[in-house]
Amino acid sequence: MEQLKQRILTEGRVKSGNVLKVDSFLNHQMDIHLFDEMGKAFKERYKEDEITKIVTIEASGIGIACIVARHFNVPVVFAKKSESRNLDGDLYTSPIYSFTHQKEYMVRVSKKFLSAEDKVLVIDDFLANGKALIGLLDIIKQSGATLVGAGIAIEKGFQGGGDALREQGIRIESLAIIDEMGEDFIKFRD
Ligand code: 5GP
Repeated sequence: MEQLKQRILTEGRVKSGNVLKVDSFLNHQMDIHLFDEMGKAFKERYKEDEITKIVTIEASGIGIACIVARHFNVPVVFAKKSESRNLDGDLYTSPIYSFTHQKEYMVRVSKKFLSAEDKVLVIDDFLANGKALIGLLDIIKQSGATLVGAGIAIEKGFQGGGDALREQGIRIESLAIIDEMGEDFIKFRD
């Protein structure tokens, strides 16, 4: 998606440890008009798939998922990272290793909100090594729901998570795939 790529080129900052900072428009300050365009792009790619639910993970997936969900007219369910007294009843859980925080944590979704009748689109801001996505796919599998695919804003292709999952037959649509990046350059996949 050209508009997203341009924003990455003009506002993205490459940090040490292969981290791309895009906090001026994606995951701290959020550009809602850009999110809306992303929603249109995902809807175009998944328009035939009769999605019934969007699944994401807190925190930075939530904003994008909510705007995308307007285009599909379905609810968003986000996997929670923290235990809470508000999270009662039976849960699907899966451990995820966090790329940005470099530690493992458990994510949880209430069994009330995901079931075998659902056709699920997973939305997230970044795909790097694929751990977050694998954890969400595990939860979807436990629920018996059908995984239609994933919609990712920025995939760091050089970290391999996306291609490894594609090889397993999982549909992943990324709006910008970065194949190489350094302090002063970012190269996108065609
Ligand atoms: P993965 O589990 O695929 O390695 O990493 C995905 C998660 O890590 C995303 O949900 C995102 O929050 C975070 N993440 C991974 N790489 C980056 C990055 O370069 N920049 C930012 N801001 N977040 C990232």
